[in-house]
Amino acid sequence: MVEIKTEQSIEAMRAAGRVVAHALAAARTAAAVGVELRELDRVARAVLDEAGAKSPFLGYHPSWAPTPFPAVVCASVNDAVVHGIPDGYRLGDGDLVSLDCGALLDGWAGDAAVSFTVGRARPEDTRLIATAEEALAAGIAAAVPGNRIGDIAHAVGRVSRAAGYGIPDGYGGHGIGRAMHEDPGVPNEGRRGRGMVLRAGMVLAIEPMLIASGSDDTYTARDGWTVRTLDTSRATHAEHSVAITESGPRILTVP
Ligand code: MG
Ligand code: MG
Repeated sequence: MVEIKTEQSIEAMRAAGRVVAHALAAARTAAAVGVELRELDRVARAVLDEAGAKSPFLGYHPSWAPTPFPAVVCASVNDAVVHGIPDGYRLGDGDLVSLDCGALLDGWAGDAAVSFTVGRARPEDTRLIATAEEALAAGIAAAVPGNRIGDIAHAVGRVSRAAGYGIPDGYGGHGIGRAMHEDPGVPNEGRRGRGMVLRAGMVLAIEPMLIASGSDDTYTARDGWTVRTLDTSRATHAEHSVAITESGPRILTVP
């Protein structure tokens, strides 16, 4: 079931989204060559604490995972696509980092992700990251009343494929509200004019993930969480929580 949010609910989600944006910005600022991933988690956790927000990631234990997720951010480096655990890994020169963070504030959720490089960036990584952001922007632009889920999926997928990148099979965006994951699913590739009709008051997390080699294949690492590319090529992730309104898409996870 898809919940239609009131204007007040969307305002409350905007507040949660702002906390997510601040946590991601702080963690990104802390990221540098030689810094451990767990330090990025500490920094994001401090922002959530300061705001009085809870983490929907911490302790999250879906049926497919062997253990509850132990952190407030997912930190996915290089060939890791999503769901990386921020551990003692020290960032190296040229690493490509994807950070995903959520917040629960006053009973409402926000969810966003950003990718960036540390140290000397490889040009191919810069292009991969820029394309994911472009795909996200295209998906957001399609998030208007009267369009369908397939229009968002098509917009995201078209930008990704045109650049020659792969789209991890089986992963995508989702509705978001009081829970981080709600209906409907928002695929990263699809056909125009298909799927559920979008209505004002729907809030969606749109989240392109791209694989540099053009392959769509991933596997889950032995930790039970980290999703890695099968061919070890690099991957990137960009995400915003977006409200569909009569006056156009409203991005909730910005400062
Ligand atoms: Mg996310
Ligand atoms: Mg999400």
